[in-house]
Amino acid sequence: MSRRKGSCLCGALTYEVEGEIDGVWMCHCSNCRKASGGTGNAIVIVKRERFHWITGEDHRTTYALRATYSITRCKTCGTPLPAEEDESNVYLTAGTFDDPLDAGIKNHIFCASRGDWDFDMQGACYFDERSLPSDTPS
Ligand SMILES: [Zn+2]
Ligand SMILES: [Zn+2]
Repeated sequence: MSRRKGSCLCGALTYEVEGEIDGVWMCHCSNCRKASGGTGNAIVIVKRERFHWITGEDHRTTYALRATYSITRCKTCGTPLPAEEDESNVYLTAGTFDDPLDAGIKNHIFCASRGDWDFDMQGACYFDERSLPSDTPS
């Protein structure tokens, strides 16, 4: 059976997921945009029995906006992980995996709440690594 590991930015939290990943849910709701600081949260949903903490389970802090929306983060570096849990599933932030997922985005949700900047402007450039503003045509 395949196994994939993940971790937070500082390395205090590490986890492992067994089995295949069936795709990523991209949530563009206004809460996920704030919580991520970006286009939203990219989430992988796995059954609880497939998820195991390796280190750091108790090194997390949870902010509950309301009963149905909370975000859990590493106490040291603030990486969101996992975003939310229910009785049967763990919701993992896709960006925290260290191993390839071998899957892509399968659903975009709350698209009506998408940031109005969340698209490529005409002529948007893609760089393999960092670029300087002077590298882009103006
Ligand atoms: Zn951390
Ligand atoms: Zn959301």
